[in-house]
Amino acid sequence: MKFMIDSHAHLDDEKFNYDREGVLKGLYENQIAYVINPGSDLETSKSAVELSHEYDFIYSAVGVHPHEAEDFTEEIYEEIKKLAKEKKVVAIGEIGLDYYYDHSPREIQKEVFRKQLNLAKELNMPVIIHTRDAQGDTFDILNEFKGEVTGVMHCYTGSVEMAEKYMKLGYYISIAGPVTFKNAVNVKEMVKTIPMEKLLIETDSPYLTPTPNRGKRNEPKFVKYVAETIAELKEIPLTDVIEHSRENTKNLFKLEGIAFED
Ligand SMILES: [Zn+2]
Repeated sequence: MKFMIDSHAHLDDEKFNYDREGVLKGLYENQIAYVINPGSDLETSKSAVELSHEYDFIYSAVGVHPHEAEDFTEEIYEEIKKLAKEKKVVAIGEIGLDYYYDHSPREIQKEVFRKQLNLAKELNMPVIIHTRDAQGDTFDILNEFKGEVTGVMHCYTGSVEMAEKYMKLGYYISIAGPVTFKNAVNVKEMVKTIPMEKLLIETDSPYLTPTPNRGKRNEPKFVKYVAETIAELKEIPLTDVIEHSRENTKNLFKLEGIAFED
């Protein structure tokens, strides 16, 4: 199998505290060449950046997740901005809207989302978008930045129609573990319609563990199950899925000088 990129994993998560080094050292023998590690608040953004400074195969992103939007302050904004300029920080994320949990009031979520999109625009960086039960507002806000900001719809499980709208705005569509779930019929049908030029793969570790490992902690090496499922659904060779997804990831995050030993 060829080397893959896991385009979204939270390796700084406390679920990796007892064996992080082992997991990271095992990536290479499991054909994982690179990982993008996003933050979800100031603390995790800091630890994401630290990890990416410590390991050459990790890149990071910084941002405040909609769950944490309520605690967003001017000071946090300035800190995130400072972090975004650090070496190996390749995106602003994950940011977005979450109306499923509604951990923060929607108006505040939108305000914090726009603020960080403006930051991405100012720094000319891509964004990593989290959206749940908020497709309409998410699209409208991203559309306000049309031609100025693009990025990736992370762990996308939405409709074909919305995917088309996001792709028209210049966004990539990233597919995670849910595509492997037996009853995820809509996700499977949607994936068939996404052109390979627009597709990324990810794990969202430690969450959303793909079949056949559901119930276990997710790890970047399980991204192969996502790739294999996409290959089956699209009836194309696995190699195509891996090569396209890693090339797309490289282009989106402007990962200059990365190489694959296969
Ligand atoms: Zn995530």
